[in-house]
Amino acid sequence: MKIDILTIFPGMFENIMSAGVIGRAADSGVIDVNVHDIRSYSEDKHRRTDDEPFGGGAGMVMTVQPIAAAMDAIGAARADRADGERFIYLSPRGRLLDQTLARELGSEDRLVLLCGRYEGVDERVLDAFGFEEVSVGDYILTGGELPAMVLIDAVCRLMPGTLGSDESHEVESVYSDLLEYPQYTRPAEAVIDGETLTVPDILTSGHHRNIELWQYRRSLELTKARRPDLFDAYLRKYGDGGACSSALDREKKAILASVTGADIP
Ligand code: SAM
Repeated sequence: MKIDILTIFPGMFENIMSAGVIGRAADSGVIDVNVHDIRSYSEDKHRRTDDEPFGGGAGMVMTVQPIAAAMDAIGAARADRADGERFIYLSPRGRLLDQTLARELGSEDRLVLLCGRYEGVDERVLDAFGFEEVSVGDYILTGGELPAMVLIDAVCRLMPGTLGSDESHEVESVYSDLLEYPQYTRPAEAVIDGETLTVPDILTSGHHRNIELWQYRRSLELTKARRPDLFDAYLRKYGDGGACSSALDREKKAILASVTGADIP
């Protein structure tokens, strides 16, 4: 997948491009990331990329010219638009990034990510190029660079060959419709402030089925307590009459019933 990033702070991307999953994906050619400095396309004699908003109001707005020129230069002009290309403006007004969207984007051939600054981007750029807006959460950051990194990370790690094992993301929070159960690692006894902390006995029992059921219960309990919205959606899908209820065996149905208090046969 080709990823083009348009930003006035290209240096912010240097570290993530050389480390971890994204670094590996770039090295192995799974992704081809190019960072473009919007400022270098500015025709303003001071290389400005922003101006005051029409109609007044606080802050500055990123201007049309340098972004449009950058889009042309990277082969993302309106006439060049091909299937499998998505133009994304990182924006708090956008569709919330979730695992479904990450998977959807992962199947595209090319992503063009526009990082805003100041009060955002002149709307005409968004309309003219058909940018869709994607948000990383209901809070306001100072720029679109961190959201772009979040998006790339979420998309990249789902692509074949980027994680150590293809199974690694199968059981993760949200991916399996539930938050992930608690994880522990060696040693089985760890001391913090003089207190010896152990791990749940079942995890060292070696009994795989019991471990799986314990993990399922803990996932349900955590999801119910922390994300009732996800839990309700899970119940609709996997509960009695739900489209996926046959995916649960008898023991898991009993656990689901005991966690919800619902009467699920
Ligand atoms: N005035 C804008 C508004 O209220 O929607 C916010 C502008 S914000 C200070 C500057 C830039 O940060 C935005 O143009 C956008 O690219 C990025 N940004 C801020 N919060 C974001 C979020 N939650 N998700 C994605 N991008 C965000």
